[in-house]
Amino acid sequence: MVLGTALILWPAWLATGRVAFVAGLLASLVVVSDPFVRVHDAIHYPREFPWLQRQGWFRFLDQHHYIHHVDTSVNVNFLLPLADLLFGTMRRTLTEEELAVHGPLEEAKATPVGTSGPARLVARPRARTPVAAARDAGGVVPALPVA
Ligand SMILES: [Zn+2]
Repeated sequence: MVLGTALILWPAWLATGRVAFVAGLLASLVVVSDPFVRVHDAIHYPREFPWLQRQGWFRFLDQHHYIHHVDTSVNVNFLLPLADLLFGTMRRTLTEEELAVHGPLEEAKATPVGTSGPARLVARPRARTPVAAARDAGGVVPALPVA
């Protein structure tokens, strides 16, 4: 919110000098942008938001967004999937080929960002995490500590 004020609201005030315009921007930051960032963070860092993970609507958005990361031409409006429905960009499932490459959502959630199979193909070599090492060895993946 501080960054939004500095980079968006203050320049908008300087450019327009209109209270209604700046108030509209502030409302959009609070009603749309802030929830978008928080829900997106919860999707990518699931262990940091356990209460959100239990919500039915969140699980739907989680799957919806996972499909978007596999095929970026679909599910482009993840916080308001109604737009995907209206514009014909909604996808509810992955193909067998996509599942073979990327795995199901549950597998992706259990894999820390940057250490999944596809990420390893493009990522620079780096130190192995205990989770990745255990998974690659075929062992039990240890639970990550909750922050
Ligand atoms: Zn994302």
